Amino acid sequence: MTNYIGRFAPSPSGPLHFGSAVAALASYLQARSQSGRWIVRIEDIDPPREQPGASDAILNTLTTLGLLWDAEVTYQSQRSRTYDDALERLHAARLTFACCCTRKELAGGPYPGTCRDGHDAAKSARTLRVRIGHGEIAFDDLIQGRVSLNRQSIGDFVLRRADGLYAYHLAVVVDDAASGVTEVVRGVDLVESTTQQIFLQNVLGYPTPRYAHVPIVLDEFGAKLSKQTFAAPIDAMRPSSVLFNALTFLGQNPLVELVDASPEEILDWAVRNWQIRLVAKQSKAS
Ligand code: GLU
Repeated sequence: MTNYIGRFAPSPSGPLHFGSAVAALASYLQARSQSGRWIVRIEDIDPPREQPGASDAILNTLTTLGLLWDAEVTYQSQRSRTYDDALERLHAARLTFACCCTRKELAGGPYPGTCRDGHDAAKSARTLRVRIGHGEIAFDDLIQGRVSLNRQSIGDFVLRRADGLYAYHLAVVVDDAASGVTEVVRGVDLVESTTQQIFLQNVLGYPTPRYAHVPIVLDEFGAKLSKQTFAAPIDAMRPSSVLFNALTFLGQNPLVELVDASPEEILDWAVRNWQIRLVAKQSKAS
């Protein structure tokens, strides 16, 4: 074993579909090909978007595919205390502020800074935001190359939502650091989120992992396959063909004779032959 730690972090908003199987497989192979550890974290911090039974269904599908993880699965729903500690530290560093703007008032653009220096006393606070400051945030993605965003285009983002739930960026950064994750391999739809996460890592004093964003699978209309839009769950009866197709999608040219092989045989070949440089670069889906 090396000190490499990779992870797969599905949200239980539905069963695993082919797109999430691709992300799971890529992060698994990137870890195992370096004799690293691979962990699974269930991102169940958004109960309104959860589907009952989805967490277990996802874990069962991973097992059927032979994508076996190290260590116990962690659940974000059990980690509120840790997220509160991080919020407390950001608050003590004067990096947070309460915001009373509604989504409608903000109309979807980057946050204009309305409540940054105090909010209208007649209105009640809704969300907690972080002050992001000025300048660029950049990183070198193993697949996508240099990614750079201006902080003004990101805007002071939400850490705790109006419904009291923790925001994704906060939870993901705290958990990746707590698990000692050294490299994040996930879908390219999250590539820009990485800048917010790197910002939080810096202000919380956490190391920044390496990042590799793999292409996402699109449906016939060019939209991302997504649990929320009810993408078909993968066929648990045919794990070998799911793995074979996912390897093909990831540019790994699996041997034709592997079509009829067992999941274990396919993964054994894939770990030995995995080459991240063969994974296609794909710009963020619109
Ligand atoms: N939970 C997120 C999702 O299912 C992935 C988060 C991540 O990999 O950072 O889309």
